[in-house]
Amino acid sequence: MENGKVLEMAKKRCTAIVLAAGSGSRMKSDVAKQYMMLCGKPLIWYALQAVEESAVIDDCILVTGAEDIIYVQEEIVERYGFRKVDTITAGGKERYDSVYQALQVIKDGDMRVPNRDGYLFIHDGARPFLTEAILRRNYEAVEQFHACVTGMPVKDTIKIADRNGFAAQTLDRSLVWQIQTPQVFECALIIEAYEKLLREKERMAAEGIRITDDAMVVETLMGLPVKLVEGDYENIKITTPEDLLTAEAFLSHTKFI
Ligand code: C5P
Repeated sequence: MENGKVLEMAKKRCTAIVLAAGSGSRMKSDVAKQYMMLCGKPLIWYALQAVEESAVIDDCILVTGAEDIIYVQEEIVERYGFRKVDTITAGGKERYDSVYQALQVIKDGDMRVPNRDGYLFIHDGARPFLTEAILRRNYEAVEQFHACVTGMPVKDTIKIADRNGFAAQTLDRSLVWQIQTPQVFECALIIEAYEKLLREKERMAAEGIRITDDAMVVETLMGLPVKLVEGDYENIKITTPEDLLTAEAFLSHTKFI
């Protein structure tokens, strides 16, 4: 569908869940990575600005560390005038705990206007290069497939290693995708999937299953197919110090500076 057409039709309510409750330990910095400065703005500003400017996203739940809520309210949301942020809530130990906390806000109706039958766009706050094109492609996919995630086909050859560090298998590169966010779902579907996860997480941990993204929750616990949606090679997650240099290079050719 052409850009723009999607919003001419009866559009469903879209709520973004922006995750910023991680400890960022791999960044090796004193400042939590989501508040580190990137070209004059805190890292979390970029994802929130994309949400603020988007014609797809209606409102947003921001998930931070419990001790950061007041700082984020005053120094990020109020200071930069992010009007779409409906609620700031405290996250949990693992990424999936943080998502679960945000889903509680939606489910229990703590939002100003609860989103009951729209879509949820779960996005890592540590990914500053969220674009309107990515949001639109996901909107179109979730309407058709109920659950979808952003990703890109890998560029390198990927091998599975054996336990002794030898190459055991080479994957067909055309079928291997690197997963990004946003990951987008019908509200009721993702709430049900996470309720199930909370009931079964001890069993899954005992079986060595580690939940690292939302699509996995839907695939594993609901047995539903999740559509892959093309993201962007620039939609990187800032994880280690060299990612900041890459982000600065990307920003040098965008509208933000
Ligand atoms: O740790 P990782 O880089 O995979 O985190 C991805 C995103 O999830 C980050 O934006 C991080 O702040 C968030 N996160 C969270 N709560 C956690 C762990 C990670 O909100 N417990």
